[in-house]
Amino acid sequence: MRYKKIGKRRTTYAALRFWTLTMLSVLVAIMVFFIVKSYSKAEYALSNDVLNNGDVKGGMEGALGIQPEAEWKLVLVNKDNAMPYGYEPTLALVGSGYYFDERASEALLDMLDACRLEGLNPAICSAYRSIEQQTELYSEQIEKQKKAGISSEEAEVKAAAVVLYPGKSEHNLGLAVDIVSTDYQILEEEQESTMEQQWLMDNCYKYGFILRYPKDKQEITNVIYEPWHYRYVGIEAATYITENNLCLEEFLSMIE
Ligand SMILES: [Zn+2]
Repeated sequence: MRYKKIGKRRTTYAALRFWTLTMLSVLVAIMVFFIVKSYSKAEYALSNDVLNNGDVKGGMEGALGIQPEAEWKLVLVNKDNAMPYGYEPTLALVGSGYYFDERASEALLDMLDACRLEGLNPAICSAYRSIEQQTELYSEQIEKQKKAGISSEEAEVKAAAVVLYPGKSEHNLGLAVDIVSTDYQILEEEQESTMEQQWLMDNCYKYGFILRYPKDKQEITNVIYEPWHYRYVGIEAATYITENNLCLEEFLSMIE
């Protein structure tokens, strides 16, 4: 009996020790999780800061009432404005193999859902591209242009109007997406006649997107008409840009 009692006490002690250790492990795991989380948040804020101090035109608090915290949405990346060196957006998955800036990913998914609710079939064919992917595309485009028998310099200029130089494409920023009709996936002007493109052009601003390279703005954007390339700028800016038939360059020069 005496032996049994001790045994029981020992068992109770072992169980107590087991649960204490388990609880402690759980607590440590929770602490580690939050420490890592706050660390990545700090990093995120840092890259955000880099981004905001990059090519954003200063003073967004103008007559348009756009707040400074909206600046990341309005970063200008084009032929003359490269992305801040080393900038990498925090990404979220928006489709099979396609990523987007996580701050705008919900808006993109909502827009695609709304389009599908109309019985249409939009398909993402390009979203975020790393600098490496952009370099590949750009090189391919130069080779393609060279086949027409023009000089290397000419080929580079022509290639840049179709595929922007690495670091100068909004796709590197994670805020641009190419959307096509599932039934017609060729990236050419006729893309504009698809029901999907018609719907997107009419409704994208409601989700904070603009058709970034309109037909009548090619001289300002220096990019061919692309009735498939949408850029996230936020609902306020997208609404203003659409209502006033502007391109992003024109809009930013107004609020400068
Ligand atoms: Zn594009």
